[in-house]
Amino acid sequence: MPGKNKAVFLDRDGVLNREMGDYVCRIEDFYILDNFEALKTLQDKGYLLLVATNQGGLAKGWYTEDELAKMHISLKETYRQHGVELTDFFYCPHHPNFTGDCDCRKPKPGLLLQGIAKYDIDPAKSYFIGDRERDVDAGTAAGVKGILINSDQPISEILDLID
Ligand SMILES: [Zn+2]
Repeated sequence: MPGKNKAVFLDRDGVLNREMGDYVCRIEDFYILDNFEALKTLQDKGYLLLVATNQGGLAKGWYTEDELAKMHISLKETYRQHGVELTDFFYCPHHPNFTGDCDCRKPKPGLLLQGIAKYDIDPAKSYFIGDRERDVDAGTAAGVKGILINSDQPISEILDLID
């Protein structure tokens, strides 16, 4: 039986905050993009907003879980000030060269499947906005429609792709 809720999954770097190369390691380099109105529109349509991000920099020791948590709190608080609730953050802390294979690193669907299970989501009514092919592939593997945008492209430009 499909879940009761619908969601828009969001990649982090290049979608919610500015793309900075491999990983954003320091909160000083964390520049939050202005997608407030666009995400408010999606929220008002009844979509849960869930973040799904590869954080292989954790496996590499480039930053800690605490530093990552600070970035996510900053993201959540900034969006909240604009009336947008980012409901949850799902991240893959692994990297194949350091921790071996896992089920959650995109293009694997694990992060999306976690969100789908936790929030009783119907994947057929849900979307994944990302700036890499691997985001679209992860979405497809989870039964969610992937939408590819350019890095740092305003989400407002692709809103008409979402019912
Ligand atoms: Zn993983």
